[in-house]
Amino acid sequence: MSDMNNNIQGVPWDLSSEYESADCPAIEADLNSASELMDQMIEHNSVLLPLLEQAEGMGVEEATDGIEAAREIHRISEDVRSLIGNPDSYADCRMSVDSHDEAAQVLSGRLQSYQKRYTELSQPLSQFLDLVSVKVIEDYLNHELTRSARFVVEHARKRRDFNLSLGEENLVSGLAQDGIHAWGRLYDQLAGTLTCDVLVGNESQLMGLAETSGLLQDPDDRTRENAWRSINESWSAQVESCAAAINAIAGWRLELGRRRSSKRPVHFLDSPAHMNRISHATLEAVLSVAEESIPLARRAALLQAKAYGKDRYGPWDQRSPAPSTGGEDRSIPYTEALELIANAYSSVDPTMGEFVEMMAERKWIEGTVGPRKRPGAYCTGFPKSRTPRVYMTYTGGASDVITLAHELGHAFHSWTMKDLPDSQRSYGMSLAETASTFGETIVRDALLERAETPSQELAIAWEEMGALVSFILNIPTRFEFEKNFYEARQERPLLPDELKELMSQAWEKWYGESLSEPDPLFWANKLHFFISGLSFYNFPYLFGYLFSLGVYAKRLSFGDEFFPRYEGLLLDTGRMTAEDLAAKHLDVDLTRPDFWRETVAMLKPRVNHFEKLVNDVSV
Ligand SMILES: [Zn+2]
Repeated sequence: MSDMNNNIQGVPWDLSSEYESADCPAIEADLNSASELMDQMIEHNSVLLPLLEQAEGMGVEEATDGIEAAREIHRISEDVRSLIGNPDSYADCRMSVDSHDEAAQVLSGRLQSYQKRYTELSQPLSQFLDLVSVKVIEDYLNHELTRSARFVVEHARKRRDFNLSLGEENLVSGLAQDGIHAWGRLYDQLAGTLTCDVLVGNESQLMGLAETSGLLQDPDDRTRENAWRSINESWSAQVESCAAAINAIAGWRLELGRRRSSKRPVHFLDSPAHMNRISHATLEAVLSVAEESIPLARRAALLQAKAYGKDRYGPWDQRSPAPSTGGEDRSIPYTEALELIANAYSSVDPTMGEFVEMMAERKWIEGTVGPRKRPGAYCTGFPKSRTPRVYMTYTGGASDVITLAHELGHAFHSWTMKDLPDSQRSYGMSLAETASTFGETIVRDALLERAETPSQELAIAWEEMGALVSFILNIPTRFEFEKNFYEARQERPLLPDELKELMSQAWEKWYGESLSEPDPLFWANKLHFFISGLSFYNFPYLFGYLFSLGVYAKRLSFGDEFFPRYEGLLLDTGRMTAEDLAAKHLDVDLTRPDFWRETVAMLKPRVNHFEKLVNDVSV
């Protein structure tokens, strides 16, 4: 590595505040404490378990012992989670930097049995809290140990009408391993063994699916198209298996939903909406505004096609990079990037800029380039010290600066929440990207301002347009397909050709004339449809995208009032529904289209500016 590169790339992070090494005595001590505490959980569970069968009809008096045991389990389990979570984060961090780190691998393997044991021991408490009457719950929550858990407990109880009997619940979760989850694993195995015959340049190459998917980010349009075609060719030999898997996964959920419908009917969107803490009305409002925004998003797609000298956008263009227009892109050294981000963050509030400086000073960011580093970027944290860490490989491109700003946004979010009780610190996927997209957007704007040529600007604005197309056209395409599929699946399993037809219709509805051709096999080649643990892994992306931009848009209208509101909003993300959060901190009603419309309106001038850039660069 040359000296110049060393100036560009980032510095290693410092994990020594947590542990010295993956096999140090401090980790042993944490795990021993976790084991002892889990033994105590067994004791308290022995009080709780015999009560579960009659928990529903129990009065406060009868439940006294159970309530006390439940509070103790709650207290202990927060400690256990942090004692297991801390070494787990440490192992992950170590393995990210060095995929061959054996001590970290051993530690990570060991932790699995701790996690499994913990999950099993936590079951009786969550069942107890679901089953008992409101009076018992009030008594349980009316205590300093449990008061802070009110939101999570009450939110979980919203679904108690759908509970089966305790024995049935246990049977379902026991059978699920070789039932619904087996179909998900089958799909993963298929994806892992699939090979693609790709034309790269004039040469035909045989490569695995992951590597071929990497080519979908290639700056050469033909390479991307060839990669996409070869991926679909491989999947088309597997459509029968994929159809069996997707039909079984949906069939399992629909049948389970039917059985849970004894008190009131279960809808297949109930569970995903509940998980994301949003209502059906909100979901409808977001989707209806996405539909209104089709013309704007199609314009952005067509402009991206135009920049590549094409008339239409291809299904292989979803992750296309900005077309290369010459080598004038100047690398931004790491320290300069941090300064730029700190300045941009400071323009919102000085404390945000200071936060970035603190992250850098304490070496809580991993930014080196290394041969054994895992690709990608993320933000994680240590539950014991409640300190965040940001991971990435920083090589100096504008997109790296934006990635760093994004991950620092996540870190700021967790820093804001660091003094809250554990039960108030986890939030749904729908709100998870609020601070990251916010950080990303302010820094992107700062980068646009300092860009010197239209082609530099184009490179920065490109991803933003890509996101717009993805979130407003592609995500709804997935949702549309999945919803129509679940509706049809209620009657019978669908044939591969029917699935293709349904998928093509969804593409046509959303992309319309902007698209060169639909991707009829998208239901088979997209992993998200085969995640056995959750369904509709799509609309939360759309919600999160528009919500976070909506928060950004409020920066102007609230002026000086904005930052305290923003901090308050982040602080409440783990203890409110999205609707309550938005009403309290942004004075808006998420179930109505207005807020979403205003957000999309903010995107219009950005598309206009992009159009100007595309025209300037192509002439
Ligand atoms: Zn993120």
